[in-house]
Amino acid sequence: MKIHVLPSGPIQTIGYLLTESKTGTAILIDAPGGILDKIRPLLEQEVCRLAELWLTHGHWDHMQEGDAVKRATGALVRAHEADRALIETPEIMEKFMGAKLGLQGVPVDAWVGQGDRLEALGRVFEVRHVPGHCAGNVLFYCAEAGAAFVGDALFHRGVGRWDLPGGSLAQLSHSIRSQIYTLPPATIVFPGHGSRTTVGEEMAGNPYVAATA
Ligand SMILES: [Zn+2]
Repeated sequence: MKIHVLPSGPIQTIGYLLTESKTGTAILIDAPGGILDKIRPLLEQEVCRLAELWLTHGHWDHMQEGDAVKRATGALVRAHEADRALIETPEIMEKFMGAKLGLQGVPVDAWVGQGDRLEALGRVFEVRHVPGHCAGNVLFYCAEAGAAFVGDALFHRGVGRWDLPGGSLAQLSHSIRSQIYTLPPATIVFPGHGSRTTVGEEMAGNPYVAATA
């Protein structure tokens, strides 16, 4: 499995394209603006069909191009139902953005929840619910790859904003300790913004989670 790291859109939100040549399929995790033009040549190069789009949460910058990706590829879209309003009516976030971007809702085909096991690319991905940045943030963990795609729950030496609707630092800290710090320490954490880190590195040095433990 190859992990293509694709920062895109106005605030460099990272879309992760996972391709597997053995199965000829691919998964896209989050769909920031401009992602479609970035994944097209990669899918062609890897000879893969985009099978699914997984949204880590319903913030506009992670799903700005979700509808376009769905239309262009027919990918099955998954997300957590706690972010349903954000995903279906993203304009409710526009007042926090300072600009109108003409956001499109994304049609979700299947809602995911805590403990779900998704089979994709010949592997199993476990869904863990990590609310606190927003109500519906989930992570997708692949034990075989030693990788967790966490959205905006945890960053390298940081955590996601907790001051937006549905956010709470206490809840976020609890989510990180119970759902991320319980993964093997060597697990690579792929966040929605910035550089990758590992579970062990954040357990040792993340100032936000330690401060509220
Ligand atoms: Zn977010």
